[in-house]
Amino acid sequence: MKCPRCVQVIHRGANVCPHCGFGLAEADTKYGAEDVSLRRLADVAGLIRSRERAKVSAALDRFCRKFPQLFFAVYTSSGQGGNLRQFGFWLLNRAAFEDVPVDRPNEAGILLVIDADSKSASVTWGYLLDPFLTEEDTFQCLSRAHAYWLEGRYAEGTVRMIEQFEKVLKKKVAQARRDPERFERKVAPPPRTGEIARRIREGHKHHAAAKQSSENTEVNR
Ligand SMILES: [Zn+2]
Repeated sequence: MKCPRCVQVIHRGANVCPHCGFGLAEADTKYGAEDVSLRRLADVAGLIRSRERAKVSAALDRFCRKFPQLFFAVYTSSGQGGNLRQFGFWLLNRAAFEDVPVDRPNEAGILLVIDADSKSASVTWGYLLDPFLTEEDTFQCLSRAHAYWLEGRYAEGTVRMIEQFEKVLKKKVAQARRDPERFERKVAPPPRTGEIARRIREGHKHHAAAKQSSENTEVNR
């Protein structure tokens, strides 16, 4: 993965970045160490018009149907500025998604964060997606949305981006079927020795390793 702060390539299992010292503990001091209860579509900045919410929700549902182990979440913020990578990394570690089935942990999630003020977007994903996604893939997916977002068409851009992710993942899954060893070797879960977060979703108690980390790609306009 890439360090969310200095963007150098680091090992998933590292508690802190060997280059700059960044880690979840530092992100916690900035954003809070408590779990955040969220829905998959959290339009905190109010970028998506109410009549368009259904389109984005439908795209998130379709993604979940196509990939029964994965989920996709969208969060809009304002004022996270140039730290969007760090914020996305922290949020995917700390979010308890109420409307995601408990058998799909955050490690299997893709999180899009759009920041209204800095006009930037960032994609973070859990380590279970490491064999299937590269920075180039997510850059391509973000690029798909870029023109729409420039025009303030946040919902439409987001839907296009989710569709692009589906195409990329479908291709990678097919490759993995043909050559499973190549993909299996790439899965390197972080050690589960760190702090364990207790996540509660719709009354279910769910334990997940808070040590989960993520990669992300950022596009600034
Ligand atoms: Zn670093």
